[in-house]
Amino acid sequence: MKKKARCEDGCVAQQIQSSTILFIIFIGQYNILVPYSSSHLGHCSSSSNLHSINMANYTILSHNRVGAGTYFRISHQSSSTKTPMTFGLFVPSRFVGNVEGGEKKDNVPVMYWLSGLTCDDTNFAQKAGGKAFIAAEKEGIAIVMPDTSPRGDPSIPNVDSYDLGIGAGFYVNATQEPYSTHYHMYSYVTEELPALLESEFSIGKDCLRSISGHSMGGHGAITIALKNSSSWVSVSAFSPICNPTACPWGDKAFKAYLGSVEAGRAHDATCLLAEKTGSTGYDDILIDQGNSDEFLAQKQLLPENLVEAAKKAGQKVTLNMRDGFDHSYYFIATFIENHVAFHGQRLRKRQSEMLMLASSSYDFSSTTGKPIQCNAMVARGPKQPLTLETITVDPPKAGEVRVKVMANALCHTDVYTLDGHDPEGLFPCILGHEAGCIVESVGDGVLSVKPGDHVIPCYTPQCALPSCIFCQSPKTNLCPQIRGTQGQGIMPDGTVRFHDKDGKPIYHFMGCSTMAEYTVLAEISCAKISKELPLEKACLFGCGVSTGLGAVWNTCKVETGSSVAVFGLGAVGLAVIQGAKMAGASQIIAVDINPEKFASAVELGATEVVDSSKLDKPVQAHIVEMTKWGVDYTFDCTGNVSVMRAALECAHRGWGTSCVIGVAASGHEISTRPFQLVTGRTWKGTAFGGFKSRRDVPQLVQKCIDGTLPVDHFITHTFDGVQHTNAAIDALHGGKCLRAVVRY
Ligand code: NAD
Ligand code: ZN
Repeated sequence: MKKKARCEDGCVAQQIQSSTILFIIFIGQYNILVPYSSSHLGHCSSSSNLHSINMANYTILSHNRVGAGTYFRISHQSSSTKTPMTFGLFVPSRFVGNVEGGEKKDNVPVMYWLSGLTCDDTNFAQKAGGKAFIAAEKEGIAIVMPDTSPRGDPSIPNVDSYDLGIGAGFYVNATQEPYSTHYHMYSYVTEELPALLESEFSIGKDCLRSISGHSMGGHGAITIALKNSSSWVSVSAFSPICNPTACPWGDKAFKAYLGSVEAGRAHDATCLLAEKTGSTGYDDILIDQGNSDEFLAQKQLLPENLVEAAKKAGQKVTLNMRDGFDHSYYFIATFIENHVAFHGQRLRKRQSEMLMLASSSYDFSSTTGKPIQCNAMVARGPKQPLTLETITVDPPKAGEVRVKVMANALCHTDVYTLDGHDPEGLFPCILGHEAGCIVESVGDGVLSVKPGDHVIPCYTPQCALPSCIFCQSPKTNLCPQIRGTQGQGIMPDGTVRFHDKDGKPIYHFMGCSTMAEYTVLAEISCAKISKELPLEKACLFGCGVSTGLGAVWNTCKVETGSSVAVFGLGAVGLAVIQGAKMAGASQIIAVDINPEKFASAVELGATEVVDSSKLDKPVQAHIVEMTKWGVDYTFDCTGNVSVMRAALECAHRGWGTSCVIGVAASGHEISTRPFQLVTGRTWKGTAFGGFKSRRDVPQLVQKCIDGTLPVDHFITHTFDGVQHTNAAIDALHGGKCLRAVVRY
């Protein structure tokens, strides 16, 4: 579909105004349910809707940044309600391009939020959005917030009552006059809105969507989920109307919209569960209910009836009765993060299952044992752009594994070699060492992985042989087994697996060479990981992120309550901050010369930031002043030798430890006065964070799947196709990039 953007200030502004006025009048007469209703008055002025974009099928009325993501209000002509409809949409930062017209159209998992009586599309955003959207950013999911009824058209029938008509559509398709023309909120939420989100923004495709809501919206969420369990991944609710055929609100709505209470049984969560045969497909239904809720006392909500029906149907319901909370959005704002996480976790799992299904459909039997021709980006010489070439990748020999590379993240070490700073760099070669791969075939004697397995190539191998004193020692991860040949750009048998179109050999790099669609690895370099984490995320554990975490956890063993200073806030430095926060550090000082890095550092747990380019004294003196005696642990994540010195010299007198992570340019040396060590400081370094690769990388991946180690924030750029690797390198050179991931 072609979209043309143009400005249409006047008419859109008018449209917003008219619907707002209606809404304000409405709210005015009912401000018990929504305690701080006056905040509605603010929404026109606070949103940046001076400028709006008119698309073929919808109009973006406003867009506001919230946390790292963006909250949009979007209107469109609805065929279900035969009126214009407006909905809110929060999109996490990674996917904002899906709405703003970027090229990339990832499928974005989404949570639908259905609001309660008297609300419109803005209540949730204004009153719970602060917490909900930041949680959604963390989970990498969108939140869509439809209106509760048709609105804004004089032909819509309404009554002078808060619980019927406008603001009270009850998520049904009305069959009775005068409502039957416009009140089709069921079709709107279950068909029209999903279709629009999928086709225009690639949001919630393949039913990658969950649903939640409050009160009347909680009723909507649970009934919609139970009626179409294949269309939703998970369901939750706040203070839902659980058994509307047995309460005054439902009685009134069903009679008016459907002609009888009996007809409402098809839209009653308790009845639906009672009549359900077989499993609903939901592992749990999460409900939060305040026990000081006035409508609970009035028997409008009846959660006990739902719980009883669920028990009989064998459906798990987690009903959290919350002491002292009422029916308001204050209650929702208190617990919304739990619900967003509940859905985020299940959406991620579903997405992984979908990916696993897709990856298990690879059939490698036709290539096994034969050379493969594929695309690769070849580094022909230092300081030259990579060239796209068709290369031949030979089958794996004994102890080797040939893999299909699915995603490769750019790391500075690749660029360092390409820029000619590595005196031992060999050309022509295939760079790349931070990747996620699927095993295509294995050579003789390989037992630890098989075709179809997901692996991360590890430039620090782990032979794990009883005779390897390094692998047997808990003190190091530096396995020397293939070190010699790896450094010479060849496989352990002394030959290469790559040839160009003229049959000339191409060198390997760091034992990985993942800037090719296929590569060959030593078996001892393959960490086999769960298939549940998409490889475009898993690849991050191949180098920088693992290194930062491991420097904290393994090399320095940072304890709870420690103070930490991190120099350099690229992916490695941010991973140090994340690891230090997880380890319980109480003070985390983040240092950089680029102030654009500070926001992410603070988001991940930095307690103070220092722009060392703005100081009138050495940064170490500044940090000692801030802390009196220095910090317990310091980390260099810059590769700059004077920063390494500064990091050591602001380590705590008597016991401070400083860890070198950055890789310095060739020929550079570190120095300090020996007295710095005499007075109790320790200088250390780390390679791959001290992780024993094949043992530990799978555990990091599992933490990420479990949601305890999020990594999405590291992926700032994505590209499709190995041929876009040069563009990814350009992105990495820009100051805003943490990791650019290229999917093959
Ligand atoms: P990056 O370039 O993304 O980040 C470096 C950061 O340091 C930038 O934010 C930059 O602004 C900042 N910086 C530069 N000079 C500074 C100064 N004088 N003071 C304070 N901050 C300064 O790099 P990255 O991917 O995060 O990698 C960091 C380093 O770690 C690199 O040297 C990389 O080669 C190295 N590395 C080492 C290992 C290992 O196993 N030891 C593994 C991966 C990466
Ligand atoms: Zn690296």
